[in-house]
Amino acid sequence: MERTNLLGMTQAQLVEFVSDSLNEKAFRARQIFKWIHQYGVDNFDDMTNLAKPLRARLAEVAEIRAPEVLFQGDSKDGTRKWVLKVDGGSAIETVYIPDGKRGTLCVSSQVGCSLDCSFCSTGKQGFNKNLTPAEIIGQVWLAAKSYGLPVLDTAERRVTNVVMMGMGEPLLNYEPVVDCMRTMMDDDAYGISKRRVTLSTSGVVPALDRLGSEIDVSLAVSLHAPNDELRNVLVPINKKYNIDTLFAATQRYLDALPDNRSVTFEYTMLDGVNDQLEHANQLARLIKKTGIRCKVNLIPFNPFPGTDYKTSPRPVIEAFQRKLVHSNIITTVRTTRGDDIDAACGQLVGSVMDKTRRSERYIKLQQVQ
Ligand code: SAH
Ligand code: SF4
Repeated sequence: MERTNLLGMTQAQLVEFVSDSLNEKAFRARQIFKWIHQYGVDNFDDMTNLAKPLRARLAEVAEIRAPEVLFQGDSKDGTRKWVLKVDGGSAIETVYIPDGKRGTLCVSSQVGCSLDCSFCSTGKQGFNKNLTPAEIIGQVWLAAKSYGLPVLDTAERRVTNVVMMGMGEPLLNYEPVVDCMRTMMDDDAYGISKRRVTLSTSGVVPALDRLGSEIDVSLAVSLHAPNDELRNVLVPINKKYNIDTLFAATQRYLDALPDNRSVTFEYTMLDGVNDQLEHANQLARLIKKTGIRCKVNLIPFNPFPGTDYKTSPRPVIEAFQRKLVHSNIITTVRTTRGDDIDAACGQLVGSVMDKTRRSERYIKLQQVQ
């Protein structure tokens, strides 16, 4: 009999499982949930506040199984990357980015991506499959275990923030992603505040509307171009949901939130493509026209093998930023982190075939036994 993997369940789903399959009271689910996510336990025998017969029964019908770690590597800037094996023989990547007291985990939602943005290496891998809930929350679980668990205040580097910015389009794997974000924010699990869980989307409008009605997390939208003509080329889903449609949906999402949160527009700076002052002017006009509460995050393009795009020169990025700042738009430039281990934005590849070729180039990568 196949055992049920409890790792991917929300607390509510675990309550259901415990009562339906084990005929146990709901508070048992909370105990198990805490053991899994706050103590990093994957063996029922370690759950010492459960009676022995219950532990034995659990071991028969259930398991706690995270993706297997194939590689773990540290960048010289402290960024850590994991390559994880997922069901079906593919591999995904997860990245942890320490920054002072903050520790941000960049989580993948799919193997590959079907949306094929022209400047994204994940997109260039094609699409393999949606990750299961256990494979998504398993990334947080593994990182938390490696750096210090939520219950341990002494943990040096906790996962304080999660960004759904790894491989894949999170809104195309909607339910598992939403369930896992609930667990990230659950005080009996990782207890991360809703402002510190960010979903990044390239603009799957119907799913964005659904998201706003079901959960409250911070939102980042991959814009990358100030007009439809250019965005159609860079982010092909724009042909289906254009900039006006996307801005309207983003506004609806913000309106549904209880506070004055703003959206972050991500804008990857591609040399000679979308980085000219006329683009900055157009972007400022677009934002002013719609009056949307936002920040702009400029991402220096991270090259990958086979791409023709180049990173915008630093002075060009700074001039673009100045232009937006003069229009009273809060604009930051994302620091490139972990590029020496191919862990920077848009460099995540993961799939088994590519990993073998790439593994030779990883710096300081160690095989984990
Ligand atoms: N699919 C989601 C989230 C993953 S990508 C999305 O597109 O929003 C996270 C961010 O990195 C996105 O804004 C994406 O457009 C950007 N990105 C992709 N490839 C990049 C590259 N090569 N260099 C810099 N940023 C890139
Ligand atoms: Fe997919 Fe996001 Fe990459 Fe586009 S940028 S191909 S949506 S992962």
